[in-house]
Amino acid sequence: MIPAAFDYARPTTVDEALAAIVEGGEDAKVLAGGQSLIPVMRLRLAAPSLVVDLSKVAELRGVRDDGDAIVVGAMTTHSDVLADPLIAQHAPLVAEATATVADRQVRHRGTFGGALAHADPAGDLPAVALALDAEFVVAGPGGRRTVPAREFFVDYLTTALGEQDLLVEVRLPKLAGQWGMHYEKFHRVAQAWAIVGVAAAVRRENGHIAEARIGLTNMGPTPLRATAAEQALAGAAADAGAIAEAAGHAAEGTQPSDDLNAQADYREHLARVLTRRAVTAAAGI
Ligand SMILES: Cc1cc2nc3c(=O)[nH]c(=O)nc-3n(C[C@H](O)[C@H](O)[C@H](O)COP(=O)(O)OP(=O)(O)OC[C@H]3O[C@@H](n4cnc5c(N)ncnc54)[C@H](O)[C@@H]3O)c2cc1C
Repeated sequence: MIPAAFDYARPTTVDEALAAIVEGGEDAKVLAGGQSLIPVMRLRLAAPSLVVDLSKVAELRGVRDDGDAIVVGAMTTHSDVLADPLIAQHAPLVAEATATVADRQVRHRGTFGGALAHADPAGDLPAVALALDAEFVVAGPGGRRTVPAREFFVDYLTTALGEQDLLVEVRLPKLAGQWGMHYEKFHRVAQAWAIVGVAAAVRRENGHIAEARIGLTNMGPTPLRATAAEQALAGAAADAGAIAEAAGHAAEGTQPSDDLNAQADYREHLARVLTRRAVTAAAGI
């Protein structure tokens, strides 16, 4: 399929990009790696009048250390995230989940910011961002603002980004203490989207689990935190029995869909099993 005709802008700065978006009006669309946008344009499910290509905006690329946080530029590709030593050191959960995204070709083009702005509930990175309490730096006509992950994902494929907003970078707060992390993904075949995924970060203290953060992929229209399981884990013994008991709460408060890949009750079962595995691995047991 061939997309409908569109105008094209290729800015080199964030300010130029914002000006182009404003000029393009409500039909303008930002292009990052194109791995999700181009297919929907080819199917004519989206027909923007203007495409604003961010590929030449160098300030949107790269990972840097900002003291209390690691900052990932929106246009940093999945491949670059995977190769980054700061991510490996401070946010291994991001690297682990990114390694499961599609195949090398998609990871070479697709971007960290694009995957989060697209907000597909089956995408692996939104649940990770939620588990790490990431902060989203958004630039718009009114200036810049920071949106916490819990407020960023609003509904199915819908975020707190306005029509004239640009996701600039994502801040991943550094975690103090003895944290372990793990991403568990259940998919039909390697390189496929998650049927369910679980992102776990666990802090251990004196043989106990002091704190657990659990993000769920594809258990509702947005990524979710498994709050009941998190509460059950806080202060629990770091052993198999306590983790299994807490993981039994993982599907509480979720709204998984029924589709060709799985029925809702099967997804709930997967959430419990994958939470047990992810927390066990993150706790180093
Ligand atoms: C075959 C295939 C398999 C895949 N499998 C997986 C998978 O297993 N797991 C997974 O998580 N993902 C998967 N993906 C998606 C992949 O992660 C994409 O990289 C991602 O969804 C979109 O990133 P992108 O950079 O290509 O964004 P684009 O496709 O360029 O943009 C996506 C959307 O986000 C908006 N957008 C992009 N950047 C910004 C920004 N900076 N500010 C505001 N809005 C922005 C665009 O306007 C568009 O609406 C797969 C994709 C393909 C093609």
